[in-house]
Amino acid sequence: MKHPLTQKRWQTIITNQIPKQPFFYGVKTTHIFCRPNCPSKTPKRENVVIFANSDEALIQGFRPCKRCLPTGNKLPNDLWVTEIKQYLADNYQQHLSLEKIAADCHGSVSNLQRTFAKATGISPTSYLQQIRLKHAKELLQETDYSIKTIAARCGFNSDTYFNTCFKESFTQTPQQFRQA
Ligand SMILES: [Zn+2]
Repeated sequence: MKHPLTQKRWQTIITNQIPKQPFFYGVKTTHIFCRPNCPSKTPKRENVVIFANSDEALIQGFRPCKRCLPTGNKLPNDLWVTEIKQYLADNYQQHLSLEKIAADCHGSVSNLQRTFAKATGISPTSYLQQIRLKHAKELLQETDYSIKTIAARCGFNSDTYFNTCFKESFTQTPQQFRQA
């Protein structure tokens, strides 16, 4: 995904014009990226990297400039991650595939995984599992529901799968946890 900084592109940047063929530029020293017509200070040519779209810049760890807003009206990542977390907290009882989470949160699967993991350090599926296990623990302690019922109520596909996840996380089975 390397795009050359041609003389034409460089001219567009230093004269703050809107290019016919859209591109974005990042500045290596600040790790911020801009639209070519951004009114901010012209960077040193050797520090400029070219991106074909804003996702490319984001993947490479560049932050959108606050003046020219190169991500347009896309949500800033932090806000988006907060929304995803809220969505998972509200919907953990359902069977949620990554495709469904991404669609309901208005993003692509790859963007969802990348953005979420970058912000939280874990994948959306691991995060969802943590929510489910937390609720399962509460139900184990506070109710007499069967393991099967608790598994279903917490969005696990089966009680076998619930047992496996629970044991992996807490080194004891749901039964053992309840009796402890
Ligand atoms: Zn800018």
